[in-house]
Order: sequence, then C-alpha cells, then structure tokens
Amino acid sequence: MTAFTPPFCPYPSCAAHAGGVTFRSYRDGSYQRAVDGRRVQRFHCCHCLRRFSSQSFRLDYRQQKPRINPQILGCFVSKVTHRQTARILRIDRKTVQRRLRHFGPALHRWHAVFLARARSRGGLSGSFSFDELETFEHDRRLQPVTVPVLIHRATRFVVHLETADLPSRGGISALNAARKKARERIHGRRTSGSSRAVEACVVALKRVHSPRELLQLVMDRKSTYLPIVRRHFGKRFAALIREYGSAPRNTLNPMFPINHMLAMLRDQVSRLVRRSWAASKKQAELIHHLWIFVAWRNYVRPMFNRTKHLSSAMALGLTDRRYRPAELLRWKWPDLMPVSAI
Ligand SMILES: [Zn+2]
Repeated sequence: MTAFTPPFCPYPSCAAHAGGVTFRSYRDGSYQRAVDGRRVQRFHCCHCLRRFSSQSFRLDYRQQKPRINPQILGCFVSKVTHRQTARILRIDRKTVQRRLRHFGPALHRWHAVFLARARSRGGLSGSFSFDELETFEHDRRLQPVTVPVLIHRATRFVVHLETADLPSRGGISALNAARKKARERIHGRRTSGSSRAVEACVVALKRVHSPRELLQLVMDRKSTYLPIVRRHFGKRFAALIREYGSAPRNTLNPMFPINHMLAMLRDQVSRLVRRSWAASKKQAELIHHLWIFVAWRNYVRPMFNRTKHLSSAMALGLTDRRYRPAELLRWKWPDLMPVSAI
C-alpha cells in the first residue's frame, strides 16, 4: 500500500485547510489501530501546529468494526432487512442504522462530485426519463410517500431522486379515520409534495444537462409535469414523449428504462419491497437508503448483466473504472479528499 500523503490540513479552522496558504506537514510517528490492526500514520500541520492522522480523512474514522462496511453496503442493496443484516454480520441493529445514516449523506456527496465533473466537461447529453414510485412511511394508507426518480435512459445512470409526502388516502376504515384525525392534530394535514419533489429532479437535471443540446425527456402523462419542465427548460426540449401509464409495460414501451429502474429499486431496497414488514418507519431513513442505492447502481454495479466491466458512470465517460464498495466508503469525499483523487 502506498504511503498516505495528506492533501491539506483536516481542521476547517486552519488556513491550510481550504488552500489559503501552502500546506506543509511532517510525519510524526504512527500507531496500530486496535479495531483492525492497521498502522495509522500521524502528522503535524506546519501551519496550525496541530496533530492529525490519516484516519482523520477516512469515512470510518472512530468506527467500531470498519471492515464490515462493504458487507453492510452489500446488504443495503440486496433486499436484506436491517435486522437480518445485524444477524448475518453479528452486529447490533443500531450499528446498521448508524451506518445507514453515515453512508447515505456520504454517498450523496460522492454522487454530487461526479455530477460536478459531468458539468465541468460540458454536461450530459442523450435521452432522460423520470417517473414516481409510491411507497409509505409507517402506514400505507395514512402516510404514503412518493419517490420521483430521474435517469439517463441509455446508461440507466440515476441523475437524481427525491422523496416527498403524499396526502393520506380516502376510503379508509373508521379506525384509520380516527388515527388520521389524531395525527393531523399533531402534525397538521398531510399535503402532496409531489410537484416540489419532481421540480427538484428537473432542476438537478438542468444543472447537469448539456446546455448545447435540446432536452429529450420521456415521462408519463401527468398534468403537473409539463409546466414544471417548461418552467426550467423553456423551449429547450425536443422530444417529449408522454406515454399513458396504461401502455403495455414491455421493452418496447419508451418508459421501459425508468419502469425497469423502479422495479429494480423495489427488488433491491428492502424498505421498498411491496407487502413487506421492512417498510420505512421514517422518510429520512428512506432517502439515506436511496442514495446508497444510487451510488451502488451508478458506480459499482455493471450497467447491464452483459456489460461486466462497464458501470453506468463509465458509459457516460465520468470515470474509467468500476469502483469497489470499499473505495466508495474509504474517504470523507469531497470535504476531506480532493475530487482529483477519485
Ligand atoms: Zn493546520
């Protein structure tokens, strides 16, 4: 293993952190980490004179059992419930939950680094598609949730996704109606966040879409969609094929790539599996889980089963290799490790 060279001082208050002054450090001994026996290099910052170690830059900083992280990530994208993950890896269920909360935002930032890279190289071109997947938090009838997902069609690269409330359903039992009232007294009426979430996806696409090209977007016929796209792309879209949701769901359907992606989400993210007891208790946990899926889908998994050495991100030219889960979870990207190191 090559020796670690700190890219800058890890203390945000130090001028040598953000590049205000030239960063210099010297090696200052090492120690053996108790949890896995790895030798950790210590450093001294020549500017603020504080000590730090190579660990300060790592995502598994101060974690117990850091070695299981790639396996936990594997479980998160393989329909394995938190409880079962804990049983398989002989860890506490709370540890699984903590890793979900830790990995979710970290992998969201990882993805943002690549979107920024795409933008700096002139943006993404081609055909895109989006649709909403419906799930729920805690209660299917009282607290439904929508998950709009936006993908690049040819490569199945997930550009963006969101989660938002949907209103409680009508036609519910007397018991559920009473529970709904009790809930509304505390939290207020549950309203639809669908438009806001769809708009966030369109905004994310606009930021990364090649400004030289017209937008090609395939989506369902839903009255709120078109005004949102128009608001952000004006007349800059060429082909807007709006298929009825009832069109046959086969490979010839222009919505096939996005339908397939939503089916994959349902199959691989335990809390989205239909009629399951693994459903999300909270929306915040769901979005963490989804960003983990996105990072795995775009950067780790082969784009298709027949393209073993090619990931979706590679097909778009954003990187030249498929990453291993351990690499995604190695550093505190991008705050404490420059993008160029990826
Ligand atoms: Zn410093």
